[in-house]
Amino acid sequence: MDVSRFRRYMLGCLLLLVSVLGSPTWAAASLDVATLTDQPVSLTAFIALLEDPERGLTLADVQRPDVASRFQTDLPASNALGLGFTRSAYWLRVPLRNSSNTAVQRMLAVENPRISHIQAYLPDGQGGYQAIVTGSDVPASSKVYPNRNFIFPITLVPESEQVIYLRMESSVGLLIPLQLWTPQAYHAHERDDYVGQAWYFGIATAMILFNLMLFVSLRERIYLLYVTFATCTFATLAIKNGLAPDWQLDSVPLNSNTVYYSGTSLALAAMLLFMRRMLGTAQLMPRVDRVLLGLVVLYLLTPIAYAIALPVFSRAAIVLNLATALVVVAVGVAAALKRQRSAYFFLGAFALLMLGGAMTSLRAMGIMPTNLFTVDGLQLGSAMEMLLLAFALADRYNVMRREKARVREQLLLTQQQLVQTLQTSERELEQRVAQRTEELQVLNTKLETLSLTDALTGIANRRHFDDVLTLEWARATRIGSPLALAIMDVDWFKLYNDHYGHPAGDACLRQIAQTLASTVSRSSDLVARYGGEEFVFLAPMTDPAGAQAMARKVVQAVAALNLPHAYSPIGHVTVSVGVVSLEPGADNSMQALLQFADAALYEAKKQGRNRLVPH
Ligand code: GH3
Ligand code: MG
Ligand code: MG
Repeated sequence: MDVSRFRRYMLGCLLLLVSVLGSPTWAAASLDVATLTDQPVSLTAFIALLEDPERGLTLADVQRPDVASRFQTDLPASNALGLGFTRSAYWLRVPLRNSSNTAVQRMLAVENPRISHIQAYLPDGQGGYQAIVTGSDVPASSKVYPNRNFIFPITLVPESEQVIYLRMESSVGLLIPLQLWTPQAYHAHERDDYVGQAWYFGIATAMILFNLMLFVSLRERIYLLYVTFATCTFATLAIKNGLAPDWQLDSVPLNSNTVYYSGTSLALAAMLLFMRRMLGTAQLMPRVDRVLLGLVVLYLLTPIAYAIALPVFSRAAIVLNLATALVVVAVGVAAALKRQRSAYFFLGAFALLMLGGAMTSLRAMGIMPTNLFTVDGLQLGSAMEMLLLAFALADRYNVMRREKARVREQLLLTQQQLVQTLQTSERELEQRVAQRTEELQVLNTKLETLSLTDALTGIANRRHFDDVLTLEWARATRIGSPLALAIMDVDWFKLYNDHYGHPAGDACLRQIAQTLASTVSRSSDLVARYGGEEFVFLAPMTDPAGAQAMARKVVQAVAALNLPHAYSPIGHVTVSVGVVSLEPGADNSMQALLQFADAALYEAKKQGRNRLVPH
């Protein structure tokens, strides 16, 4: 840096310092534009200001001495003139001086695209003025220098003093940052400014397209809500920054304050809808959710009010938007307290947006210095918000995927348990069935034994005898051997019963049965109760002599029991036996065997009882 540039730089700094200190004596002094360095100079300290509440004054009016004297000169120095929400028009008188002997080119910059109407009166060099009528609510083609802000290139003839007049009016808050630049410095600044804007809109475009693709592939409404919210924010910020195309909606420019305020409403409505979905307020806090829906409806109606009378509603709009910000923070905190995971992301994202917005506002009010973070603070905050929210969506997707996997695992486990339980109960059932079958078999065997045994005496019953007789007859037929049969009947037994009683008769029958069983004891022989007080024995492969010997032993054994029988002529219990032995053949049938034995028994009774009679 050479000495003269250094000196100019120091002088610039001094001037800046002076403007910051804002001494009223110096305030009215004109600025020597020849001393300008590559740093801009804020003109706030050099201007004189006149409020025109009726908005009817013309350039000629304000130049008239009586009106000119009403200009206020002792303005506090700052980056910008903050005039608040006002319906008045304001006249700015800017005295400039060129002390050099060459013509000087400068850029007069009003870096606020949100001023509805600007009239600039620039000296034409011949004592007259060139009027430029522009502003955000006027088509952008009215601008003398194409830029998103309002830039007026001026030329100051050598060694001259000139006064520039600016008339400003806005339907929203009026903030006037008035700066003077050298053309080179401004071009460098302008380039940086557009690069910053491009970064933001590039990021926003990427986020919108990416989430749109996610919506198309995942079909989840929350992505569509995000895209709507991001698109509305994108468009609103573009309009806010004076970057919207120079189009008109029913003769209202796209970059106008009416469209900007309406866009803000739509962006906030979209953000509320996105927040409802993301935090699940409908389930988490149904009453609050209804309030949020009410706000959305209110926001969707506000464009009508703005279209009718923006200056009337613009102040209320700021209050409404601030209230919404508070509601959003409160809902976010409440959801976070309920351990809603998305709420942490949401609060973080919203805090970044608010921080960015706050930095931009504070810088505009001159409280914070001008730097990268404060100039584009709102956009930086908005970009961070979009990124963090997109990240939250990814996180949400991840959480849902994990939850799905967990449910699937649980399902599988339950299924396995079910199969196991089924298998176990099947095995148990099989075991039980096997056990029951075994028990049944034992029972069946018992039943079979019971059905073949005579209950009173314990020897074989009539049924068993019939079965064995059929079998033995068949066998005897097959092998051609004799089969012996004896039928025994207790003598005078009716009388025995009558005299001794039925229970005694039963006991007697049991004793006779036992005697029979022990007398006829060959394993191939069968002793059975034939019915009432009649017994039989069957002896395979026994000839008539053998059979008679057996029958004799039975008669003798019963007699030997010597059971007293008072009404028997013999004096004790006896039996009569009819005995027969036959070889099966053409003339001999099983029925014949029984008939012969029966007949022999009859004969034994006839002959006097207590004896055997062979057939
Ligand atoms: P007989 O010498 O001619 O055979 O004369 P009986 O009295 O034995 O004549 P019968 O064969 O007609 O009588 C059979 C009697 O046996 C009739 C009945 O009271 C008795 N009796 C039949 N079954 C049972 C029984 O299970 N228990 C008892 N206590 N008595 C029976
Ligand atoms: Mg009888
Ligand atoms: Mg009898």
